[in-house]
This record gives sequence, structure tokens and C-alpha cells, in this order.
Amino acid sequence: MRYFEYSQTLMGTKVSLQLIEKNDLAAKIIFGSIKMLEDKLTVNREISEVMSINKAAGKHPVGVSPFVFTLIEQAKAISIAKNSCFNVAIGALVKLWKIGFQNGNVPADEQIQYCLLLTNPHLIRLDKQKYTVFLEKTGMEIDLGAIAKGYIADAIKKLLLAQQVNTAIINLGGNVLTVGDSPLSADGYWKIGLQKPFAKSSQPIVVIKIKNKSVVTSGIYERFFIEANQHYHHILDPKTGYPLDNELQSVSVISHSSMQGDIYSTHLYGLGIEKSISYLQETPSLAALFVTKDKKIIVVNIDSSLIQLINKEYVITNHSFG
Ligand code: FAD
Ligand code: MG
Repeated sequence: MRYFEYSQTLMGTKVSLQLIEKNDLAAKIIFGSIKMLEDKLTVNREISEVMSINKAAGKHPVGVSPFVFTLIEQAKAISIAKNSCFNVAIGALVKLWKIGFQNGNVPADEQIQYCLLLTNPHLIRLDKQKYTVFLEKTGMEIDLGAIAKGYIADAIKKLLLAQQVNTAIINLGGNVLTVGDSPLSADGYWKIGLQKPFAKSSQPIVVIKIKNKSVVTSGIYERFFIEANQHYHHILDPKTGYPLDNELQSVSVISHSSMQGDIYSTHLYGLGIEKSISYLQETPSLAALFVTKDKKIIVVNIDSSLIQLINKEYVITNHSFG
């Protein structure tokens, strides 16, 4: 059995769509839709709906499409939750560090402290009647980098189903979403390999079996730079303004909604292993797999029959609270 793979570079990453039947029309519609969503949500170009909000910070509210409004509304709600490591108002810091872009650099501490003052998510004013967004302080910036790919993956799934494409895998650079049962296995599970952090070629360390679910990974090994022997990656601590520093190399969240997976992979990365385990104990609907710098794989709320260790340099431990 072979797949038909369609791929394009969008959102600074390889976006791929695998179908079991050739369907150029569906692929065209899907990639066109992703491009349309990217055009509205990006902060990596001068013009987009989110950039209009950012440019009007401290000046005036900006009307946006209903879906952009709802996405920002959801992102704000997570950002203002107690002890959240996810902050949609982190844009000024992201632009200051430029991690993952060619000119990434360690900014002066004073600049970081200044930008931190521009990241209060409570200062995102939303008017649900008018669908407007207003950032109260000049210099504030919304950044949807930790949620939008998940949102887009969910939107693509709906679009595929609407076109009667009932079997597919979508991969938006670290956001994998499966549609329907896998035709490759008798039990219908898809096998998703998680890559070895920092490996130059494709080397899965562990395989997760999923069905009608998404696997979203946030890690420190794809977007980073090294300065004075220090490794600086792109997930920033909303409290300090510096890259989050802990024992983790990556977090993968398994969930129905890829947007939830995107949000929580970033949040749990920030919590670190101990707090994440407590968090997941209270949230049994959420499953996650953590890879630590000292080669441990910690699996939480996933049945061990769905996990297969490939690279024996790693040691797996399993916690189940579901
Ligand atoms: P995640 O952990 O999900 O998110 C990390 C990203 O979220 C960071 O890169 C930063 O943007 C932001 N962030 C950092 N810390 C936090 C935090 N504590 N809370 C919330 N958010 C945080 N990349 C390019 O190189 N070129 C492009 O033109 C480009 N265009 C894009 C357009 C869109 C619409 C989107 C969604 C992404 C685009 N990207 C682009 C990629 C983007 O810059 C991020 O690197 C990417 O979204 C990170 O996703 P992730 O799943 O690896 O990490
Ligand atoms: Mg994320």
C-alpha cells in the first residue's frame, strides 16, 4: 500500500498531507486554505490581520475575522490562567530574540526587562460584539506561534471530511493529525515516530500508536541558536523573558484537538516534568510523552500497549492516571 504525499513549505516549515488515493483537487483546496489562514495569522510578514492588531497597539481596536477573534480569545484565556507557561502576548519578546530566524541573538537584559512589560495578556481587550482586538500598550504584540498550527490542523481535518476524504495524515512541522483508521494495520492505528532530538537524519526513538488523534511536539532542538556555548531555544519563559530552562528536550501531547495539543505541548514544556505529572494526574483526558536531556522517556496517561521503544539508549517509564 502506498501513500500519495503532497507537500509545500508554509509557515516556515514543511507541511505535508498524505492520502491513500491520489486527489489533486483536495490537496489544492487544503494547501490553498492553509495559505489563506497563514496570511491572516502570521506575524512574520508586514501585513496580516494579527499584524494589523499589533501595529495598532496603544492606538485603537482593530476589527478581525470571527475565527481570528475566537482564536485570540481562546489563547488569551489560557494565557491568563494561573501559572500558565503559555502567553499569547509574548510577541515583543519573540521579535526581540528572533530565535529560529537567521539573525537570532541574545538581547541585552534591559531590553528583555523592557519587553517583559509589554507581555501582559490581561491588556488584550476583546470586544465580542464588534469582533475587535485592542492591545492597550504601545509595543505589545500578539504571537500565535504556539497555537495556530494546531488550529489549522483541526481546520484541515474538517475540510478533508467535508470532501469525503476520510483517511489522511496531516503534518504541519511537529503537529501531526490523523484522520480515520490507518489502512496499513489491522487494528486501524497509525504509527507516529518521534524523532531523536538534535539528530541530523530521521531517527525515531519511540513510536506512538494513535487513531483519530493528534500528536503535537514542542521541543528545543529545531529552533535554536548557540552563543558562547549556551543553547537558546524558542520557547520563552513568560516570567523571565529568557528561554525556559529545564530537564526536557521535548513534550508531545496526544489529544483529539490539535489546537489543544499545541497549547498544552508548550504549557507542559514550561511546567517541567514534575509539575506536568501532577497536572496530568488532574487532567486524565490529556496524554503526554516527555523526552528528557538524560534520555528518559516519560509517558503519562497513555496505555503502554500503544508505545514502542525503538532506540534502546532511552529508558521508558509509564504513569497512568486515566
Ligand atoms: P511551540 O512550542 O508550539 O511554539 C513556540 C512558538 O510560540 C515560538 O516560536 C514563539 O513564536 C511562540 N512562543 C514562545 N514562547 C511562548 C510561550 N511561552 N507562550 C506562547 N507562545 C510562545 N517560521 C518561519 O521561520 N518563517 C515564517 O514565515 C513563519 N510563518 C509562520 C506563520 C504562522 C501562521 C505560524 C503559526 C507559524 C509561522 N512560523 C514561521 C513558525 C513560528 O515562527 C514558530 O516557530 C512555530 O509556530 C513554532 O511552533 P512549534 O510547534 O515548534 O513550537
Ligand atoms: Mg504549541
